[in-house]
Amino acid sequence: MANVLRGETTRQRDASAASGSLPRPRPGVQQIPPYVAGRSAAPGAAKPIKLSSNECALGASPKAMAALREAAADLHRYPDSAATALRAALAARHAIAAEQIVCGDGSDELLHLLCQAYAGAGDEVLYSEHGFVVYPMVALAVGATPVKSPERDCRVDVDAMLAKVTPRTRVAFVANPNSTGTYVLAGEVERLRRRLPSDLLLVLDAAYAEFVEPADYDAGVALVRSTGNTVMTRTFSKAFGLAGVRLGWAYCPTAIANVLNRVRAPFNVTLPAQRAGVAALEDAEFSAAVRAHNARWRPWLESELARLGLKPVPSVANFVLTRFPGGEKQADAANAHLMARGVLVREMKAYGLGDCLRITVGREDELNALLAGLKDFLGAAK
Ligand SMILES: *Cc1c(COP(=O)(O)O)cnc(C)c1O
Repeated sequence: MANVLRGETTRQRDASAASGSLPRPRPGVQQIPPYVAGRSAAPGAAKPIKLSSNECALGASPKAMAALREAAADLHRYPDSAATALRAALAARHAIAAEQIVCGDGSDELLHLLCQAYAGAGDEVLYSEHGFVVYPMVALAVGATPVKSPERDCRVDVDAMLAKVTPRTRVAFVANPNSTGTYVLAGEVERLRRRLPSDLLLVLDAAYAEFVEPADYDAGVALVRSTGNTVMTRTFSKAFGLAGVRLGWAYCPTAIANVLNRVRAPFNVTLPAQRAGVAALEDAEFSAAVRAHNARWRPWLESELARLGLKPVPSVANFVLTRFPGGEKQADAANAHLMARGVLVREMKAYGLGDCLRITVGREDELNALLAGLKDFLGAAK
């Protein structure tokens, strides 16, 4: 059997070499770096402690879980292609118009669709250095050129972004909060929008908005409402604990919502995802518990890391990025040490932050296991 297959492959290769006509992806596709997800397995650990993907420390809302179980009875039905109930619930929650909301298969899908609709070959897609590894991927996927602007101290630098704008820049992505845990002041985001060309689409990726406490932060609702060229994306993957069902949404000017509704697949959000999303929004008690947990344990984790001599970046999200004074070698060794103890954190090489590890604010017992591992590592390394 294997020989037959191998024989066919050779014949095919011969044929194509003769005609030079194998299908080829369009330019850019082969340059897309493979996405490296947060680790979910550790060799030898049956149940690793997963602090690598900023998932919800408290699991999923019990109401969302119940809605999912009930959705099992309707699995033979197509989902509502307009996600009517979910958009109505989001509109009520955020005091925005349901017509301006588009739901997606995770916010990832919406980032892809925005790039697909507004950028293409010859265009540039701008993003801030440590924003989100998906931004350059979606730019390359549509044949555009990703352009990276530098950050200062793991913070988005508005002036550095503005300096990278060219007449070919079609889309700019800002993760706010950033993938480093920092955030951009509402006034700075406004200044960025004001100084960007009006025909450039600004995408504010507010995946961690629910965790942010400072009052000088705005996820983007105000800007989307007052401009015709700004979109805010949100997700149920983090604060709502629904990463596994894949659900995100975008709040857009009406014209952009109409564009997204043309390019998206009619049934891009599954029926279980829509039901779980509505139930999660109704579970105020769970949401409050998630926020309270984070408000308590994130500062604690930051101070414990600092006490160990590490350099945590002040965070407003549900994770802490921490620098290792010994650089990439020390960060790698710490990562290996933690993994051997069944504790998974995020390597940050893909973000150009090889001397850092990123740690989700998990449960108390998980954080204690993490700190015990780090103490042990740092003690042994001295
Ligand atoms: C997790 C995350 C997302 C959300 O991804 P989903 O596709 O909605 O799960 C988007 N942006 C950033 C910066 C993230 O960290």
